[in-house]
Amino acid sequence: MHRRKFSNLFRFGVRQKVLLILMSVLLIGLTISGWMALKQEERNTLKDINQRGSDISRFVAKSLAYSVVGYDYHTVQLLLDEITFAEDIGYAKVVNFKGNTMAESGDGKNPNIVIFNQDIRLEDEIVGNLTLGLSTENILQRLESQKFALIKREAFVIFLIALGEFLALSFIIIRPVSIMSESLNDSVDESGRIIGKVPVISEDEFGKLAQQFNMLSAQLNDANLRLQSKIDLADKQLIKNNRQLVQQSEELQRINEEFRKMSVTDSLTGLHNRRHFEELMKTELEMSLRHGDVSSVLVIDIDHFKKINDRYGHPGGDAVLKQIAGKLKANLRKTDILCRVGGEEFVALCKRADRTAALAIGEKMRRDIESTAMRFGDEKINVTISVGIATTNELNVSQGAEELYRQADAAVYHSKDQGRNRITHYDDLLQAKNTQATAG
Ligand code: GH3
Ligand code: MG
Ligand code: MG
Repeated sequence: MHRRKFSNLFRFGVRQKVLLILMSVLLIGLTISGWMALKQEERNTLKDINQRGSDISRFVAKSLAYSVVGYDYHTVQLLLDEITFAEDIGYAKVVNFKGNTMAESGDGKNPNIVIFNQDIRLEDEIVGNLTLGLSTENILQRLESQKFALIKREAFVIFLIALGEFLALSFIIIRPVSIMSESLNDSVDESGRIIGKVPVISEDEFGKLAQQFNMLSAQLNDANLRLQSKIDLADKQLIKNNRQLVQQSEELQRINEEFRKMSVTDSLTGLHNRRHFEELMKTELEMSLRHGDVSSVLVIDIDHFKKINDRYGHPGGDAVLKQIAGKLKANLRKTDILCRVGGEEFVALCKRADRTAALAIGEKMRRDIESTAMRFGDEKINVTISVGIATTNELNVSQGAEELYRQADAAVYHSKDQGRNRITHYDDLLQAKNTQATAG
C-alpha cells in the first residue's frame, strides 16, 4: 500500500514531464541570462562613473584655473567645499604647479570613492592639479535596485516564453496523443471488432502512428471477419451433421421398430408368431386372474395339409395358409388374439369367452372354412380344420398358461382322432375319459 503510493509520485504523465523539463530550462535560462545581464549592467555603471568623474573633473578644473593662477586660496577652498557638499563627490584637493596644496575638502580615505586626477590648465599651460573623489555609494545603491528590476523583468519574460513553449508543446504533442487516446475509448464492439478510427490530424510522427494504427485495426478486423465466417461455416456444418445424425437415429429407431415387429410377427400371414403368443398368453392370464374373467384358448390345425402341399406345391400351401388366417381372424372379435404357432397350426385367445362362447366361435370358424373353397390361381381347394378348446378355470389357471395350451392341444388331437373337421372342448374330453374310467 505504502510502496504503491510512493511509486505513484514518480508516475508522471506526458504533461507533467514536459512541464518539469520546461521548468528546468526556465531555471537555467533565468540564471544564465540574469547573470549575463547583471555583468553588462555593472560594466555600464563603471563606464558611467568614469565618464561622470572625468566630466566633473574637467569642468571643475576649468572653473578653478584663474583662482589657482591668482593664488586665491579662499575661492579655491570655497569652491571645493561647494563641490563636496554635492551628493556624489566625497573628496576634492587642489595643488598648484609647485606641488603645494591650496585647498582640500572631504574625506580622502573613504573606501567608497573613486579618485580622478585632472591637470588644471590655463591656455595649454599646466597651472595645477585637481584630485576628485567620486562617491560610489549612491551609484551602487542604484545599481542594486536596477539589478532587482532586471531580475524581475527577466523572470517575467522567461515565464512568458516557458508558457508559450508549454502551450506549443501541448498543441504539438499532448493534443494529438490525447485525441488519439480518447478516440480509442469504447472502440471495441461485443464481437471484438475495432470500430473506432484514430483521427489523422497532423502529418508528423503522430499522424503516421494514427495511420498505421488504423491500417492495423483494419487488418485485424479483416482477420476477425475471416475467422468469424470460418466459425459460422463450421457451425453450419455442425448443425447439418447434427440433423443428419438425428435423421439417422430416427431411421435406426424405425428399423428397430420394424425388427421388433418382425420378431413378433409371422411373415407369411402377418399374425403374431409363437414367441409373441407365449408372452401374450402369460399377461392375458394374469389379467383374467386378477379380474376373475373367463377366457378360452382355441388350437386350430388344418386337416391333411401335407396333401395340399403335395398336390399344389409349397406355394399352393402358402396361399391356403394365408386365406385360412384371414378367415379365422374374421370370426374373432377385435380384442381377441390370433397367432400362427406352427406350420399350419393357429391359436386364438378369446377374452371373456366361456366354454359355450368358445365352442360357438370354434364352430363358426370350422363351418366358414368348410363351406368356402380356397383359391390358388384358377384352382379351388377345399379345406377343413380341427379345433381344440380349453377354458380357464380355478385349477388350470393356477397351473399357468402352458397347462391351458396343453389342454387345448389335447382337445385338437381328440378332434383329429374322431375323424377331423370337428371341434372338441377339453372339458368334454375330460368328462368322456372320466365316464370311461367309471364304466371300466
Ligand atoms: P393332420 O390332419 O394330421 O394334421 O395332417 P397334416 O398333413 O396336416 O399333418 P401335419 O400337421 O403333421 O403336417 C403339417 C405339414 O405342414 C408339414 C409341412 O410340410 C407343412 N408345412 C408346415 N409349415 C408350412 C408352411 O409354412 N408352408 C407350407 N406350404 N407348408 C407347411
Ligand atoms: Mg399340424
Ligand atoms: Mg394338420
